[in-house]
Formats: sequence, structure tokens, C-alpha cells
Amino acid sequence: MYSLSDIFGNRNTIEKMSSAVKSGQISHSYIITGSPGTGKTLLANIFAKMIQCEDKSGSIPCLHCSSCNVFDSGNHPDVIYVVPTKRKAVGIDDIRTQVLVKAATKPYKYSRKVFIIENADTLTAEAQNSLLKTLEEPPEYVVFIMTAVSARALLPTVLSRSVILKTEELPAKEISKYLAEKLGIPEDKASFYGEYARGSIGEAVKLSSSEEFSEMHQLVFDILASARTSDITTFTSNVSLLEKYKQNPEFLDIFTLFYRDLMIIKLIGNTDYIIQKDKADFLTAEARKETSQNISDKLEAVLKAKKELASNVNFNLCVELMLMKIKEKTT
Ligand SMILES: [Zn+2]
Repeated sequence: MYSLSDIFGNRNTIEKMSSAVKSGQISHSYIITGSPGTGKTLLANIFAKMIQCEDKSGSIPCLHCSSCNVFDSGNHPDVIYVVPTKRKAVGIDDIRTQVLVKAATKPYKYSRKVFIIENADTLTAEAQNSLLKTLEEPPEYVVFIMTAVSARALLPTVLSRSVILKTEELPAKEISKYLAEKLGIPEDKASFYGEYARGSIGEAVKLSSSEEFSEMHQLVFDILASARTSDITTFTSNVSLLEKYKQNPEFLDIFTLFYRDLMIIKLIGNTDYIIQKDKADFLTAEARKETSQNISDKLEAVLKAKKELASNVNFNLCVELMLMKIKEKTT
């Protein structure tokens, strides 16, 4: 657990962390920001492990010193995970009991005391102000490592005392490579998830192992593939199958992808640049039967439905109309 080989991308951040630890110039507060699934939690943990590592002669974390060993057990005496106890977000009471009290005493065994606060952007202003007391005059051994999707929700006074490290979004190809090489996912599928996850490796990993997502993906394909063979009543009745995704109509993104891929095949005549490579044969056959205008009209119908659902239009009505349009434009 928690070794540099677990990290894919984010080389810049790793570089900054390593040089801070190697030079001994560790700041008192770091905020790791970035989109969900870009590795913030992993980086926070690796950084804490690096800071506490006792053998800094080679690559850090060394993975063999006593600190490295105890770190992975989750019971490192000088690494404190600040967690919410009463509400969803860390509140002022949590900061008092888990940070202020603990920061006042010296590390138990190692040279620093590291506090990890995840989702720091959900901290109330009250909690942040309370944290500020320690940030303003930090005991020499205290290091905060916070994670946040965006630094905007943090008080300027907290930000000005912290070093901001940004995670990077990875190119789709890199993510696909990771899925194929490290997780053994077949290449055509890995390529799909890499593109679909839009720069988030965490999201790609999650989706690639999610049965629910693959079920939804398959359902959309089955529906689309039946547009040519079923009559309009049967086709629009598919709305009942999609109803269970009412709360999170992500299936519309798959519809979009489907038409995007068809359009690409139509335009360039091959499947080199499509996202759903695992469905290449089907898509090629479909593209042959379609006009560009029809594909474009169907894509528009999907985008319209997406927009309407975002503004709370009746789900069944909206999706039924979309399916009707798709059927109408399938010749
Ligand atoms: Zn070590």
C-alpha cells in the first residue's frame, strides 16, 4: 500500500513533495486540490508517509523502516486522520478535539505530527477559523495535509498559510494504459473507460469494475440497437427500463457517445478515433445505414433531453419524446 508505484501521473506534485522532504524544508500546511478521482487521497497519504519515513537515503517512502511499516496499518502514532464525528463535514468540535488538543503535544515517536484533513473545502468557516489558531503559530513538528476539490471554499487566511499542490487530469490514453496494464482490463474496454472518465483515473477504475455501470451501458446499446427493428410503441416503452436512472440520468451520456462515434465513422470512414472500440463492428454497420443529418438530429434530441432533465422536466415525458425522435430519424 501507499508506494510511489501506486501513483500514475502527478509527477510534478510527487517531485515537489520529494524535494520538500529530502531538503527538510517542509511547510506547516499543504492543500492538495483537484477534480474527484485524480488521486488527492492517495497523494495525501503518500506525502504523510514520505514525511514520516526514517530512511531518506534512497527513494522515499522507503517502505522498510518502522514508520513505513506502521503507516500502512493505519495506526501510525504520529499521523492523525481528522474525521467528522457529528455531521458529514469536519466541524469546529472535531478541530478542537482532534487537532488543537493533539497539536499541543509533541509527536509520540517520530519527528513530525501529521494531520490529514480530507474534503477541507467542506469545513465550516468556524472550523477553519479554529484551525487557523494552529496555522498562525504552528508548533515546529506540526504538518497539515488537506485535500479539496477546489481551494475557493477555503478562507484566504488559511490559503495564505498553505502550499497549494494541484493534481493533474490524465490524458485518456494514459488512463486506458493504466487500466489495461495494471488491472488487466481488455484493451478495447480500457480505451472506452479511459475516454469516458474524462481525466479522472479514480473514476475510470470505479466505472470499469462497476456492474451497475456496465449494465446501464449494455441497456443503452440494446435500446439503440432495437431502434431499427421495433415499432414505435415498443421502442418508446423502453422509457420504463430507463426509469430507474431517473435520479442520475448518466445514460444520456452514453447515448451521446453512441451518436458521437457514429458521426466520426461517417466523417472519417474508419473506427480509429471512436471511443467505443468494443462495439466497432456494430457501429460501422449502423453508420452505413445512417445519413449524417439523421445522426446529427438524434444527437440533438439527446442533448435537448439532457438539458431539460437538468431543469426538472418530467422524466418519462422527456425521455419518451427523445426516443420518439430517435425512432423517427432511424431510417
Ligand atoms: Zn520509510
